[in-house]
Amino acid sequence: MSNIVAIVGRPNVGKSTLFNRLIEQRQAIMDNQSGVTRDRHYGRAEWTNQFFTVIDTGGYVVGSEDVFEEAIREQVEMAIEEATVILFVVDCMTGITGLDEDFANVLRRSKKPVYVVANKAETTDRLQAASEFYSFGMGDPYPISAQTGSGTGDLLDDVIKHFPTEEVEDPDAGIPRIAIIGRPNVGKSSFVNTLLGKERTIVTDIAGTTRDAINTRYKAFGQDLILTDTAGLRRKARVSDNIEFYSTLRTIKAMEESDVCIIMLDATRGMESQDMTIIGQAIKAKKGVVLMVNKWDAVEKDHRTADVWKKEILQRMAPIDYLPVIFTSVHEKQRIFQVMEKAMEVYENKTKKIPTSKINELMQPEIEAYPPPALKGKHVKIKYMLQVPTPSPTFIFFCNLPQYIKESYERFLENKLREHFGFDGVPLTLFFRQK
Ligand code: GDP
Ligand code: GDP
Repeated sequence: MSNIVAIVGRPNVGKSTLFNRLIEQRQAIMDNQSGVTRDRHYGRAEWTNQFFTVIDTGGYVVGSEDVFEEAIREQVEMAIEEATVILFVVDCMTGITGLDEDFANVLRRSKKPVYVVANKAETTDRLQAASEFYSFGMGDPYPISAQTGSGTGDLLDDVIKHFPTEEVEDPDAGIPRIAIIGRPNVGKSSFVNTLLGKERTIVTDIAGTTRDAINTRYKAFGQDLILTDTAGLRRKARVSDNIEFYSTLRTIKAMEESDVCIIMLDATRGMESQDMTIIGQAIKAKKGVVLMVNKWDAVEKDHRTADVWKKEILQRMAPIDYLPVIFTSVHEKQRIFQVMEKAMEVYENKTKKIPTSKINELMQPEIEAYPPPALKGKHVKIKYMLQVPTPSPTFIFFCNLPQYIKESYERFLENKLREHFGFDGVPLTLFFRQK
């Protein structure tokens, strides 16, 4: 379900270069779609149609070169805990250093697959030097060049073998998974406690303790669902510098495993760039999204305040304009069940399949009324379209010259699909194929 690849290693071995290499293709496609900000340390990647999240743990490390500080050790441990696969990056130019050994000592205890990635292997000399890394006793090193991309294909071929396949028997298969996410202090714990109707034992302040169950089966409106909540987890970090890293990890994981994300915003603080990043990530991961603006009781407002808020959110998310926004007060139990209702509705939207005949019946007249503009004197003709059976709504448009469909026309088609079929809260994917 969740495919998370963590990149670890000491400073300067090329982690962030590798990170950028892995996410570049997809990022280029997705980033021009919206004004959402991207995070420098995690992003979506794809290899042979397998999608995954990559985390550059180095971006969060504050430790220095010469000591394997507690903070770094803890981060590596956290990465091991949360990731599906770990890439341990080392440098063929420098060979093994003491700090590499420190990383190896922690990674060796991991039950998760660890790949030794021998970076900067552009020359024959350095390729040969890569064999030194056998001495970690962690299997074959993978010589690569993060800079040129050479060797990364072989590495990814093996990495994706560890991603769970859909066929795995899951007793909870088919039950909607709703993740509750948001920055610290937006009210996640309070929300979940209210929903579940009891005060659960949350983590104590004792360092290193945690609440284990973050997935809770929950019944709402006669329907079973699984609530994933990330509240309280931040207190698990022993070193305070790692709090952000850890909450990011947990957020990504919860998001990955969910169908729909309820993303909570704090009305007393407005929408901040961290919120935008979370929303952007959920959309890139093709999750359903409900925006829940909480602490509505604590803002001064008149009859226009909600509209102003909504407008501002839409403006900042443009052109993404299909996310439902609900203003809540968990304290006053205001509209919190409406949020759950909306989340279920978004789930229905995300999983529904529109019959091919219906799509063509409603979309063909739209296309006739506003056909794709001709390009270089050539007429683009869309012949028919259908929805493919994928986890999030995906449509294929068959046409004579798929490469001539412009982004603006794609947006037109997406808007028409939304108008006719109501995909509130759900990112759509459109493909154009030659026919
Ligand atoms: P990080 O600290 O581990 O994230 O390392 P960076 O990605 O910032 O890279 C550290 C340095 O190594 C930079 O000067 C990069 O240009 C260089 N570097 C990264 N990857 C490669 C590579 O594949 N080959 C070579 N020759 N240099 C690289
Ligand atoms: P978490 O870190 O996201 O789990 O947030 P908590 O549930 O721990 O809440 C953080 C703070 O916000 C607490 O002091 C809550 O009492 C407060 N809070 C939560 N929901 C509301 C709300 O609807 N209105 C107001 N005014 N405060 C709230």
